[in-house]
Amino acid sequence: MQIAVSGGKGGTGKSTVAINLTIALAERYDLALADLDVEAPNDHILLGLEPTNEEPVELFMPRFDYQRCARCRKCAEVCEEHAIITMQDGTPFLMPNLCSGCAACEIACPVPGAILPGKKLMGHTYLTETPYGFPLVTGKLREGEDRAMPVVAWAKRRAQSLGKELLVVDTAAGTGNTVSKALEDSRLIVAVTEPTPLGIHDGELILRLAELMEVPAVVVVNRSDLGDVGRVREVAERHGAEVIAEIPYSENIIRSYVEGRPIVLTHHPEAGLFRDIASKVVEFLRGGE
Ligand code: SF4
Ligand code: SF4
Repeated sequence: MQIAVSGGKGGTGKSTVAINLTIALAERYDLALADLDVEAPNDHILLGLEPTNEEPVELFMPRFDYQRCARCRKCAEVCEEHAIITMQDGTPFLMPNLCSGCAACEIACPVPGAILPGKKLMGHTYLTETPYGFPLVTGKLREGEDRAMPVVAWAKRRAQSLGKELLVVDTAAGTGNTVSKALEDSRLIVAVTEPTPLGIHDGELILRLAELMEVPAVVVVNRSDLGDVGRVREVAERHGAEVIAEIPYSENIIRSYVEGRPIVLTHHPEAGLFRDIASKVVEFLRGGE
């Protein structure tokens, strides 16, 4: 069983909701948290942890054996990414940044051994035990690399392989294909937004994506006193999503963020808000059983 914490716009407090919700849910489920915001993972920072158990994410990348290559250009012709260019005599050269690792060139090459299976490092995944009773899986894209999808897919697979009763997925911001990949298999999307014009606009995009993927969504409004929360409620209602929490701007939350101490574990009143979100999520999941 999987739930996802997502948000159309960056900086809405999505990760704060994800870690505090996960800690609260850990009292009721054997679970894992997966940070799939691979371009800027920060759940480990909010939890005050150093990621451990690093594993590389590697893709196929062709290497040419020029002793064998027949200069037939077939590899370049079949490459949809135009990652192989050929010289006048047909000698192929690879532009590694364009290669997606699909291996079509290797399959198309008529000369055995002319293309050798090289590897390209895309990023890493990490498996970190937390002091809160659940493991955190983190995906991290290699600096300078812009293909995030393989790292999202590998990190998600690593988290799923733990075989937990519940997997909480923290997605990237936006509605791109890596977000869809992260949302896939979810029973519920917790969409975190804020009541600013941009927050409302981007929040609506994630609700539309949830509809397209036929996954139920609920809404958490962060910094709810800094804009038009009524407008968020209208948008949520239009998309059949309940607003399950309104979290006002809070210095206690910011302090807990800076100190790497999750607010849900403190005695501040805001802790109750996150426990309420967890209760609503549990209610929803039980209702679906
Ligand atoms: S692996 Fe795919 S993308 Fe990369 S060079 Fe070969 S055909 Fe092109
Ligand atoms: S398909 Fe194979 S033999 Fe033909 S140019 Fe490419 S590497 Fe050389």
